[in-house]
Amino acid sequence: LRKGLEPFSKQLGKTEDGQHIAIRANIGGIADAKRAKEAGAEGIGLFRTEFLFMEASRMPSEEEQMEVYKSVLETFSDAKVTIRTFDAGGDKQIEYLDMPIETNPFLGCRAIRFCLKRKELLKKQLRALLRASVYGHLRIMYPMISGIGEFREANAVLEEAKQELKDEGIPVADDVEVGLMIEVPSAALCAETLAKEADFFSIGSNDLTQYTMAVDRDNPNVSELFTEFHPAVLKLIKMTVDGAHKHGKHVCICGEFGGNTLATRLLMALGLDELSMNPNSMNRVKKILSLTNREEPEISYTYLTEELSDAEEIKETLKEDLIKKNL
Ligand code: PEP
Ligand code: MG
Repeated sequence: LRKGLEPFSKQLGKTEDGQHIAIRANIGGIADAKRAKEAGAEGIGLFRTEFLFMEASRMPSEEEQMEVYKSVLETFSDAKVTIRTFDAGGDKQIEYLDMPIETNPFLGCRAIRFCLKRKELLKKQLRALLRASVYGHLRIMYPMISGIGEFREANAVLEEAKQELKDEGIPVADDVEVGLMIEVPSAALCAETLAKEADFFSIGSNDLTQYTMAVDRDNPNVSELFTEFHPAVLKLIKMTVDGAHKHGKHVCICGEFGGNTLATRLLMALGLDELSMNPNSMNRVKKILSLTNREEPEISYTYLTEELSDAEEIKETLKEDLIKKNL
């Protein structure tokens, strides 16, 4: 099976009717970026920068961060590299950051919320990112945005960082895109408003499912309730894509769902523009794309979510659909 898939590592993602779908990689550092490049990724859809912070015993300096971002941008000099500002909190505690101890950490001061309370940390990271931006095509992405206010507040820190660098005579690329993750239901519901100001969206389906279903993503006692195939999650994905497209913005999905081959055809029907995943899934996803046309009635949103209505039924139907297509 792997042998038959190998040619796809040299090709870009494309649907049967010739629409280009960028297949990007999720990474946690420089070594992952090199592996992703070899596996045929078209750029990076998610660099989880908190891993840099978690592996260190103190906050990495601006210089140290800049070197890492530069290296990843240079690995993909011809494609977009999406770097997420650090997503600490929730299940990811960082000892030296003196983070608050909370009863409900997933509903607490995590990700962009923590960064907006500790703006000096965010600014240091944004300066490092802007300094690295001249080495490739950088996209900066904020995690856990719940509404337009947080996006604007983070962008104000970004503007300060830009101004500082300008004053210091340090060059910054003028094509840096700034977007956000859609992983809180409120952001999906307000997607149209956010799309007016953001350059792109990326759906964090792991958290979006956790928060929509009210199911802790790491709790085995309720894991049977955690499914992205639930019509409520699919509806929020659809709202996100429709809201973005109204303003001509692209939507990627970088949670596990983006690399789930059972979902690939459905994600095309939902209108996703890019998919980001663990490199292991890329060839199979590209193959499925090559035999998929967004307009096929078997995978239509109305059919799958309005006529079927139950997650298990939707999954069964998609399984049969793949078998019928010999996929
Ligand atoms: C997600 O929530 O889907 C996501 C990609 O972010 P993380 O898994 O790092 O929380
Ligand atoms: Mg997340």
